Amino acid sequence: MKLNKKLLITIDGPAGAGKTTVSKMLAKRLGYNYIDTGALYRGIAYEARQKNITASDDNNLKKICENINLEFVNVGEEQHLFSNNKDIEPFIRTEEISMLASAVSAKPFVRKALLKLQRNLGSKKCAVFEGRDMGTVIFPNADIKFFLQASIEERAERRYKQLPNASERGLKDIKNRIIKRDKNDSERKLAPLKPAEDAIIIDSTEMRAEQVAELMIASIFR
Ligand code: C5P
Repeated sequence: MKLNKKLLITIDGPAGAGKTTVSKMLAKRLGYNYIDTGALYRGIAYEARQKNITASDDNNLKKICENINLEFVNVGEEQHLFSNNKDIEPFIRTEEISMLASAVSAKPFVRKALLKLQRNLGSKKCAVFEGRDMGTVIFPNADIKFFLQASIEERAERRYKQLPNASERGLKDIKNRIIKRDKNDSERKLAPLKPAEDAIIIDSTEMRAEQVAELMIASIFR
C-alpha cells in the first residue's frame, strides 16, 4: 500500500509508553523521517549539566538556549543528536538527563527556543514526530495524531529492560522517577502532556509494539 498524500503524523504520550519503538517502526514502514523531540530537551539539559547549571538558574539556561545549535545527523542506521557540532547522543539517555530535561522543559523560554526548529523539521511533512505536545501545540494541524499510553507498571518494566544500569537502580526507583516525570510534564502550565482533542488514543499495556504499529497503519490507511 502507498500513501497518496504527504502526511505529518504525531505520537504523544507519557514516558515509557513505547512511543520511540513504535514511531521508528511507523516511519520505516512509510519511508518517513522520524523525529524524537524529547532528544532536543535532553540536549538542552545535557549542555546545562556540562556547565553545572541547575534547573533554577534561568539566566544561564537562557544563555544556553540562545547559543545552542541542535541538529539530527544520520550516523549509520541511527539518528544522533548533535549539539554545536558534537555528537551528544551517547550521553543524553541517562536517568539524570531525563529528570533535568523534564525540569527545563517547563520553562517558556526553553519551549520557545525549540518551537521553530521543530516546525522547520516538519515543514516538508512525511514525518513521524514523537513527544509530549506534538498534536496539541507544535502541530495542531497534523494529519494524524496518536496518543500512546500504558499502565505505570508496564512502563516501568519497559524502562527497566532498556536502561543499561537498571539493576543498580531497581524497578521501584525507575517507577518513581517515571511517576515524578509524568507529574512534571502533565502539570506544567505550558504545553502540558495531554492528548489532543482529535488524537486517537491507544493503550499499549497489553500490546506488542508490532501490534500498536499495525493499529496505527490501519488508522492511517483508513
Ligand atoms: O521523550 P523523552 O522521554 O526523551 O523526553 C524527555 C523530556 O523532555 C520529557 O520528560 C519532557 O519533559 C520533555 N519533552 C517535552 N516535550 C516534548 C518532548 C519531550 O516537554 N515534545
